[in-house]
Amino acid sequence: MKSYTLTMIKPQAVKNQNIGNILAMINESGFRITAMKMLVLSNEQAKAFYAVHKERPFYGELVEFMTSGPIIAAVLEKENAVLDYRKLMGATNPADAAEGTIRKNYATDIQSNAVHGSDSDENAKNEINFFFPANELYTKCGKLVSEF
Ligand code: GDP
Repeated sequence: MKSYTLTMIKPQAVKNQNIGNILAMINESGFRITAMKMLVLSNEQAKAFYAVHKERPFYGELVEFMTSGPIIAAVLEKENAVLDYRKLMGATNPADAAEGTIRKNYATDIQSNAVHGSDSDENAKNEINFFFPANELYTKCGKLVSEF
């Protein structure tokens, strides 16, 4: 069954011109991109997106990093999208990331770790709605996705 996850390509990976390389890994791993945009997050948006981490010591630094330049936000479609994309991303800390993962290839440190991926179906839905209104989500034949 089709399912969805939300990814961001983080500012350091965009600055390093790794958008194309990362999107190629995503497509080659069987995900379809059903929505995509490039934007700079506002302070309020970054704080809200990472609100779950607001008590963590790195929250301020993370918000500063995530607003430091453009990001790519995209919706990925696949069976088991959330879990399969977490596998493709690799561990949060690139030092622990497996060979063949996006973070192994393109992360520079635990904070600048190239990509975000939703961690549950419920969060995926919330994160997709955070970035994309219903009229920006497309199906395989270019029609709008109605489930979201
Ligand atoms: P993820 O689901 O693998 O992205 O990891 P988390 O949800 O635990 O953390 C969210 C994001 O916060 C990570 O992707 C990193 O960008 C950042 N982060 C996590 N742990 C640390 C840390 O110990 N130090 C710093 N500076 N950033 C961190």
